[in-house]
Amino acid sequence: MQAQRRYHLDPLALDVDAQVVAHLTVQGRAGVVLDDSPFYPESGGQPGDQGVLDGLAVTDVQAADDGRVVVLVGGAQLPTVGARVRGRVDAARRRQNMSLHTAQHMLSRAFLDRLGAETVSSRLSASASTIDLDVSSLDEAAALDAVQCVQRAVDEDRPVRQWFPEAAELAGLPLRRRPKVEDNVRVVSIEGFDVSPCGGTHCTHTAQVGPVTLLSIERYKGKMRVSFLSGAAALRELEARARVAVSLGRRFSCGPFEAAAAVDKLQSDLAEARALATRFRAHWAERRAQEALAASPDGRVRLALEEGGQDELRALGAAITAKPEALAMLAAPSADGWRVLIARGAASGFDCGAFLKALARETQGRGGGSPQRAEGVLPAGVEVLRCFREAP
Ligand SMILES: [Zn+2]
Repeated sequence: MQAQRRYHLDPLALDVDAQVVAHLTVQGRAGVVLDDSPFYPESGGQPGDQGVLDGLAVTDVQAADDGRVVVLVGGAQLPTVGARVRGRVDAARRRQNMSLHTAQHMLSRAFLDRLGAETVSSRLSASASTIDLDVSSLDEAAALDAVQCVQRAVDEDRPVRQWFPEAAELAGLPLRRRPKVEDNVRVVSIEGFDVSPCGGTHCTHTAQVGPVTLLSIERYKGKMRVSFLSGAAALRELEARARVAVSLGRRFSCGPFEAAAAVDKLQSDLAEARALATRFRAHWAERRAQEALAASPDGRVRLALEEGGQDELRALGAAITAKPEALAMLAAPSADGWRVLIARGAASGFDCGAFLKALARETQGRGGGSPQRAEGVLPAGVEVLRCFREAP
């Protein structure tokens, strides 16, 4: 057994009173090796601990290639080799990781037993932890059922045991998966629920896991990825989501549970209003096009509308160019100048795209399109009707 890894023996031992036995650099960062360390190094999908050591911030903990635990500290001056140092593991972060790791074991067991879905990898994070399952699809209701089975086992406050069994005992344990190491296999047993080999930090009783919530289920590289949270992180996430739902409800003068129906109604009202607007716009465009064509003997309709947007320009353009010889040169005021549409009927030879492109270049606007139809925006000071009249 590795004597320096105290978190293996007691995940709730967070105080440090140890001797610095070496300085070591991992991933280009300097740190110290202690003779007795409660600090957990990043491994098995669980992030490294943080905390303080002799007043210095512990920013990360990593395992060196030779297996030694390196405590990475901020600040230029490392505690000297031989010095006794005191410190403490960041308790909230450790408790969070214990919760996530225990929840992961329980979820992996529930997905296996209830859905036949084996865990191929997992990653723990307080923003969203993930479990990748070796299946190509996952029924959401069945997944929620598995999560509820875990929630019940959390509530039952089952004891969690973490130990290094002798070979004979290990051989008789119903492990969920094969160990990744040959010697010193550490086993985590959640009473009556799951037995797995694992070197991480876990709760000592399941009630410490706290709330467990499923965030999403998605396809990922041919497998199914389940995102979840537990403990304080789950509570934070659920409270944040609840606040969003409540605030959404307030906007509709209803409660959070009625908000979805209120949005449905809003969407259907909007679709109805849009359909009505489209019908009125078409009537308006038809009438306006007839008047304008009657006042334009050469078939070229040049109009600068007082109001209206892209939809009005397009509707009017379509109504005018239904007449094959017609040419529509239309503008409407927009936030950044004039919105312009140039369109021709089927029998007109005018090159709309070339005309608007040249006009945009000349006036420092932007726009272009095909010979049949072009759109763009010209600066506010441009005299659009004069420009339309000067068209070739
Ligand atoms: Zn574990």
